[in-house]
Amino acid sequence: MIGSCHCGAVEIEVSLKDGFATARRCDCSFCSRRGAIAVSARLEDLRVIRGADNLTLYQWGTRTAKHWFCRTCGIYTHHQRRSNPNEYGVNVAILEGVTPRDLGEVPWVDGVNHPSDRR
Ligand SMILES: [Zn+2]
Repeated sequence: MIGSCHCGAVEIEVSLKDGFATARRCDCSFCSRRGAIAVSARLEDLRVIRGADNLTLYQWGTRTAKHWFCRTCGIYTHHQRRSNPNEYGVNVAILEGVTPRDLGEVPWVDGVNHPSDRR
């Protein structure tokens, strides 16, 4: 699938690991503000095909996850996960032909009590 930010500077090509079955929202302090639904893709299945130099990296907390967004229009495209660094979460709303409301009820991940923070 092809995905792009709002201004079109950044374009990605991605193959989803498990279609939209992995679609999740997260209620951690960052994701709840961001408000996006993410689906899973393996690292090797995502390529930034345009505008890699227009992506900005945001990290916080343990600085393990890498959140990428377009520096022009601010749209979050994808992030490398903290719970599984071999995976990206991809913003479903940037994907061509995908309407987030068609996904219906999307399960929430308990990001406040993140698995990586449990002992
Ligand atoms: Zn953009």
